[in-house]
Amino acid sequence: MTTNTFDVAIVGGGAAGLSAATTLARSLRSVVVLDAGKPRNAPAAGAHNVLGHEGISPLELLAKGRAEAAGYGARIRPGEVVNARRDDDGLFVIELDDGDTVNARRLLLASGLVDELPDVPGVSELWGSTVLHCPYCHGWEVRGQRIGVLGTGAMSAHQAMLFAQLSDDVTLFTNTMPTPEDEEIERLSALGVAVVDGVVERLDVVDGALGAVVLSDGRAIERDALVVAPRFVVRSEIYTGLGGTLADHPMGGTFIPTGQMGATDVPGVWAAGNCADLAATVSVSMGAGTNAGAAINMDLILDDARRAVSRENRRAPHATTTSPAG
Ligand SMILES: Cc1cc2nc3c(=O)[nH]c(=O)nc-3n(C[C@H](O)[C@H](O)[C@H](O)COP(=O)(O)OP(=O)(O)OC[C@H]3O[C@@H](n4cnc5c(N)ncnc54)[C@H](O)[C@@H]3O)c2cc1C
Repeated sequence: MTTNTFDVAIVGGGAAGLSAATTLARSLRSVVVLDAGKPRNAPAAGAHNVLGHEGISPLELLAKGRAEAAGYGARIRPGEVVNARRDDDGLFVIELDDGDTVNARRLLLASGLVDELPDVPGVSELWGSTVLHCPYCHGWEVRGQRIGVLGTGAMSAHQAMLFAQLSDDVTLFTNTMPTPEDEEIERLSALGVAVVDGVVERLDVVDGALGAVVLSDGRAIERDALVVAPRFVVRSEIYTGLGGTLADHPMGGTFIPTGQMGATDVPGVWAAGNCADLAATVSVSMGAGTNAGAAINMDLILDDARRAVSRENRRAPHATTTSPAG
C-alpha cells in the first residue's frame, strides 16, 4: 500500500472533477484526480451545447481535459474510491479499490450519477443514441423526426411538450404514468402531441436503431427516437460515509446539497457536477468544478495563513510590540 499527501483529492474525473483539477493545479496546488472512468455521457456519440467543442466525442473531451489538468501538474490516478475518512490530524484518508491510499487536506466529490433506465427491452441497448432524455443534449439531432415519449411519471408530459418544440410528430405513450389531467391533455393536444394509451412491452430494434414502440396489445407504432426519463441515482456513498446527509430533489431522487461554491455540510468536503446538481449539463458541471476549485484554494490559503500566524506567534510572541523609542 502506498500513501501520498495532496492539498486536494478529487473523486471523479468527469467534466466537474477535471475542471476543478485544472483550476487548483493552475493555483499551484498539489491535486490528484481519482477516476473510475465511467462518465455518464459515454454512450453518446457527441456532447452538445459545449461552447467551442460542439459535438465533440464525450471521451475525447475528457481526454483533452485530463491532458490540460496534467499539463499544470495535476495527477490523474485511475481507480475507484471505496472509502474516505478523516484521521486524527484532520487529513482525509482515501482508499482505492486496489488497496492504495491517498491523503489530502481537502476533498472534492465529483462522482456524478447513474441513470437507472426504465425496464423495457430495447431501452438500454439504444440508450444514448435513439433512446434519449434531454432536449438540450440531443434534441437538435432528432428534430423533425417521429419521436415517442415513454410515460413513466409526472414529468413525461413535460418532456413531450419540450420535444414538441423540435418536431411536429410527437407521441406520448402513457404506459405507466399517472393519467394526465384534463388541462395537461388540452395543452399536449394544442402543441400537436398525440397520446397513446397502453403499456409499452418492448422496443423494436432495427439495424441498431429504434424501429417501433411495441405495446402489450400487439400494436407497433413506428418511431425514430424515444424519450425516456431515467431515475437519477447520485453516487453518494463517500459523502454519506463521511456523515453527510442527502437532500431530496423536488422531481424525485436525492443529491448532495451544497452552497453556491460547492461547499457541503461536511467540513473540508466540496461537491460539484451531477452529484450535487441532477440537472447539470457538461458546461454547468465544468462551471461548478471551476467554482469549487477556486473556493477550495481560498479555504487552503486561509488555513495556511492561520497555521503560519500561530507558528509565528509561538516563535516570536512579542513580534508586534514596538521597540522603545531611542
Ligand atoms: C446519454 C447522455 C448524453 C448526454 N449528452 C450531453 C450533451 O450532449 N451535452 C451536455 O451538456 N450534457 C450531456 N449529458 C449530461 C452529462 O453527461 C453530464 O452533465 C456530465 O457527465 C456531468 O459531469 P460530472 O463530472 O458531474 O459526472 P461524470 O461525467 O459522470 O463523471 C463522473 C466520474 O466520476 C467517476 N466516479 C464515480 N464514483 C467514483 C469513485 N467512487 N471513485 C472514482 N471515480 C468515481 C465516474 O467513473 C466518472 O468518470 C448527457 C448525459 C447522458 C446520460
